[in-house]
Amino acid sequence: MMRQYELVERVQRYKPDVNEALLNKAYVYAMQKHGHQKRASGDPYFSHPLEVAAILTDMHLDEATIAIALLHDTIEDTSATRQEIDTLFGPDIGKLVEGLTKLKKLDLVSKKAVQAENLRKLLLAISDDVRVLLVKLADRLHNMRTLHHVPEDKRLRISEETMDIYAPLAGRMGMQDMREELEQLAFRYINPEAFNAVTNRLAELMEKNRATLKQIETDLSNLFAKHGIKASVKSRQKKAWSVFRKMESKGLSFEQLSDIFGFRVVVDTVADCYNALGIIHTTWSMVPGRFKDYISTPKQNDYRSIHTTIVGPSRQRVELQIRTREMNDIAEYGVAAHSIYKDRGSAQNPHVISTETNAYAWLRQTIEALAEGDNPEEFLEHTKLELFQDQVFCFTPKGRLIALPRGATPIDFAYAVHTNIGDSCVGAKVNGRIMPLMTELHNGDEVEIIRSKAQTPPAAWESIVVTGKARAAIRRATRIAVRKQYSGLGTQILERAFERAGKVYSRDELKKGLQRLARKELDDVLAAVGRGELPSSDVMKAVYPEYQDSKPKPAAEREEGWVNFRNTSGMIFKMPEGAEAEGMTPGGPNALPIRGASPDMPVHFSPEGAVPGDRIVGILQPGAGMTIYPIQSSALMAYDDQPERWIDVRWDIDDNSRDRFPARISISAINAPGSLAEIAQIIAENETNIHNLSMVRTAPDFTQMIVDLEVWNLKHLNRILSKLKESKCVSDAQRVNG
Ligand code: MN
Repeated sequence: MMRQYELVERVQRYKPDVNEALLNKAYVYAMQKHGHQKRASGDPYFSHPLEVAAILTDMHLDEATIAIALLHDTIEDTSATRQEIDTLFGPDIGKLVEGLTKLKKLDLVSKKAVQAENLRKLLLAISDDVRVLLVKLADRLHNMRTLHHVPEDKRLRISEETMDIYAPLAGRMGMQDMREELEQLAFRYINPEAFNAVTNRLAELMEKNRATLKQIETDLSNLFAKHGIKASVKSRQKKAWSVFRKMESKGLSFEQLSDIFGFRVVVDTVADCYNALGIIHTTWSMVPGRFKDYISTPKQNDYRSIHTTIVGPSRQRVELQIRTREMNDIAEYGVAAHSIYKDRGSAQNPHVISTETNAYAWLRQTIEALAEGDNPEEFLEHTKLELFQDQVFCFTPKGRLIALPRGATPIDFAYAVHTNIGDSCVGAKVNGRIMPLMTELHNGDEVEIIRSKAQTPPAAWESIVVTGKARAAIRRATRIAVRKQYSGLGTQILERAFERAGKVYSRDELKKGLQRLARKELDDVLAAVGRGELPSSDVMKAVYPEYQDSKPKPAAEREEGWVNFRNTSGMIFKMPEGAEAEGMTPGGPNALPIRGASPDMPVHFSPEGAVPGDRIVGILQPGAGMTIYPIQSSALMAYDDQPERWIDVRWDIDDNSRDRFPARISISAINAPGSLAEIAQIIAENETNIHNLSMVRTAPDFTQMIVDLEVWNLKHLNRILSKLKESKCVSDAQRVNG
C-alpha cells in the first residue's frame, strides 16, 4: 500500500507547489474512516481509494481531485458525513464527494439496459465538475482491475455496465487509454472465449512480427534523426477488444485484419509533425485515402494528430500517427490532460485548448441540488436532468459530442455534423429508435441520421429547425431544388412546343433565342417557362422568328373591346381594352358570369375558389363587395348567424366560355425526385394554370401540397383530379372543401 509521503511525492513531481496539508489530511481521514474494513480481495479497504488516487496522479490531476479520490467512498461506506467533510475540507470538496456518493447509488440500480441509458444521461447531467467523472472513472478502473476477487455472479453485470457506460464515457471524454483498458478488462468477463482466442492470436502475431516491427521502428527513427527531427517512435498493437469488434462488425477473420500494428511518432512541435510527414511521404509511398489531418481540423473531443498509411520498408502497410507530446497527452488522458496544460496559459502556447472553451466546459457547470429520494427509482425520477437551460448535448453513434440549442431537432443535429448530412437527411434514430424528424432532442441522446442521396431538404423544415446553420442550408438547398424542378418542367414544356412546331429541341437550338429573350442563361429561360412566367410560344418566336402560334386564343380574350383583369386579391374584372390596370377600382362593371350580384359590386372568390357546376352562395363583405363560396364550404359556418349577409347567386355562363375560375386542391405526393415536375406537367397538360402552390410536409415519405388552379368548370376540375390520382407520384388528390 502506498505510503502517505509517497502519494505527496507523486503529486509533487508534476505540481511542485502542491497543497501537502490537504493531501495528508485526506489520506489520514479516509484511512481512519475505513478502519478495518476489508475488500473482497481481503486487502484493507483503504487500499482501494488509495489506488484510485494513484491512477489520477498518473493523469497529473490536482490535489483537490486526489483528495476527492481518497474520500470518495467515505460518505457511503463509513460514518463520515457531508457536514464533517465540509468542515474539514471545505464545501467544494464536500460537494464533489457527495456527487460521487450519488453516482455510487446509481450503480446499484443500473441492472437493465434501460437503466444504463438513464445512468449515462445522469452521469453527464449531474457531473457538474468534470473531476467527479474523472474520479468515478478511476474508481471503476480500479474495480475492474480487481474484479476477479468479486463473486462470479456479479462480474458479468459489472463488466457489461463498464462496456456499456464507462468505457464509452471515457472515450467521449477523450481518454483513449482509459477506454481501452476498461474495454479490455470488461471483454475478458463478458466473452472469455473470444477474449482468450483473440488475445492468444495477437500474442502469436506479435511474436512473429517482433523483428519486423523493431526494424521499422529503427528505420523511422534513423530517418528522422538524419533530418534533425527529435522524435520518439513506438509501435503499437490493437487491443483485443477493438480487434474483436472489428471482426464482428465487418465480418472479417483475424487474418483479414490489416491494421493490427501501427506506429506512433511523437515530436516536439506542430511544425515537426508536418516535417515528419513530409519526410515519410517522400521516402515511402502513401496509401491513398488514408491520410487525415486532425491537427488542422481537430476532432470534437480535441483529438489532434496526423494519420497516414504508407507502404513500409518491408512492403507491408504501416499505419502512422504523428503528433506532439501535448497532443499525445490529450489523446491519452483527454479532458484530464487539459488540467496539465491549463496553467500554462494560451499566450505562451496558442495550441493549448482552453479548458473553458473546449467541448467539456459543460461538464463543469454547476448543478442544482439533486432531489434526495429513498428509493433509487425516485432518485432517477426526481433528479433534474435539464440542467443546462439553453443547451442540449447529443452524441453521434461514434461518440462525437454535438452541442445544440435547446429545442433542436435531429435535422439541426444533422446540419451541425455536416451540411451534406443535413441535406441528405431523411430520418433519424434517437437512442436506437426511429423518431420523427421534428422530435426535440434531449441531453445525452445518441442520434443517428438516416440519409438518402435522392433527398432534397423540404422547405417546410425551415420552420422546424432552430439553428441558423440548418436554416440557411435548407433555404439554399430548397432554392436550388425548386429551380431545378422548374427548369426540368420548362424543358419538358419546350420539348413539346418544339415537337408541335415540327422542330427538334436541343439546348443549342434554344441558345439561338437567348439574346432575343434578353436572358443570360439557358437555365433562366427554362426556369421561367417552368414557372409559367414565360410562355413557350414566346420562346418559340425568339428561336424561330417565323414561328406562328397555332393555338386559338381563349374566347374571352378574343372578345372585342374587353379584356379580363385580375387584381392582387383575386378579384376578376372585365375592363375595356386599353384600360390601365393601375386605375382599376371597385365599381367597374361586374365581369363575372354570376347572376344575383349587382353589376357595380366587386365580386371575388373565397380562397378555396368556386367553379361553374358548383352550387354557390355569395357572402356580403361590408365595404369589400361579395365573396363567392361553394355551398359545401366549411368556411360558411362562420356566417350561420348572419343571414342578412347571404346572397343567393347562380352561375350565368354559356357553354362556349373560356373563362377560368379558381379551385383549390390538395395533393399528397410521394417524395421522389421529379414528383413536383410530374404533377405540374399533368396540370399543364390538362390546360390548367397553377395560380399558387404551397407545400406542407406531413410524413417522411409524403408531401402534402395545396394547389390553387384556374379551371373552366367542375368537369374540367374533376378530370384533373382523376388524372392526378392516376399518377404514380400521387397517393391522393382532393378538392379542398369539395
Ligand atoms: Mn470506490
